[in-house]
Amino acid sequence: MKIDIITLFPEMCEAVLSESIIGRARRSGAIEINCHQLRDYALDKHRRVDDSTYGGGMGMLMLAEPIALCYEDICEKAAAKPHFIYLSPKGRTLTQQKLKELSGYENICLLCGHYEGVDQRVLDRYVDEEISIGDYVLTGGELPAMVLADALARLQPGVLSDDECFELESHYDGLLEYPQYTKPQCWRGEEIPEVLFSGHHENIRKWRREQSIIETAKKRPDMLDKAKLSDEERRLAEKIMADETARKPQ
Ligand code: SAM
Repeated sequence: MKIDIITLFPEMCEAVLSESIIGRARRSGAIEINCHQLRDYALDKHRRVDDSTYGGGMGMLMLAEPIALCYEDICEKAAAKPHFIYLSPKGRTLTQQKLKELSGYENICLLCGHYEGVDQRVLDRYVDEEISIGDYVLTGGELPAMVLADALARLQPGVLSDDECFELESHYDGLLEYPQYTKPQCWRGEEIPEVLFSGHHENIRKWRREQSIIETAKKRPDMLDKAKLSDEERRLAEKIMADETARKPQ
């Protein structure tokens, strides 16, 4: 997958995307990420990319033309038309399901807004969808773009050591992940569950599945409506939810 990011702060994006797992994946060629300085597409010598809004009101808006020029340049150099996403608090909230869907694209282009946002006309003309990372407002689209790029990159083949790494994680199959433990076996008097050092793979698998259901029922019962559970598993989830309700002070 190739991800192009249109931003006023490419150094900020590079700082995040050059480190750790994503940095390694970029260097190994498992994923390509390019950050484009929007000011390079400004029309005047002051490299201006924003102006005041028509109709009055506070704050500045990003100009349509530099964004259009930058996106057209990216399209010209791409093998296939990139799926163009504007990071915006007005967009659909990002979910693991949405990421699975987006990971099917070969080319993705992300637009990071700033100030009051972006001239609507360039959004209407080019943007395929708007994505939000939550119901709150940030100062710019760089952090949301980093969230999206990171979450997408780790789904690409060759980025994590083993596909199981993400297939067993929270949200992948509609449940939260089971609790995990590392050494020492006894920490400040607390032992890890016995089954985990039994060496019995089937019992460990069953324990983890049950714990995933318990975690989800306790922390995110709203997710259970869509989770695929057997009758027995659903009864377990309902019992945990009833216990949680009984435990909470009225
Ligand atoms: N005036 C806009 C509104 O009320 O919808 C908010 C603009 S915000 C201050 C500046 C930029 O930050 C946006 O253009 C967008 O790119 C980004 N942004 C802010 N919050 C976001 C969120 N929750 N998800 C994705 N992008 C966000």
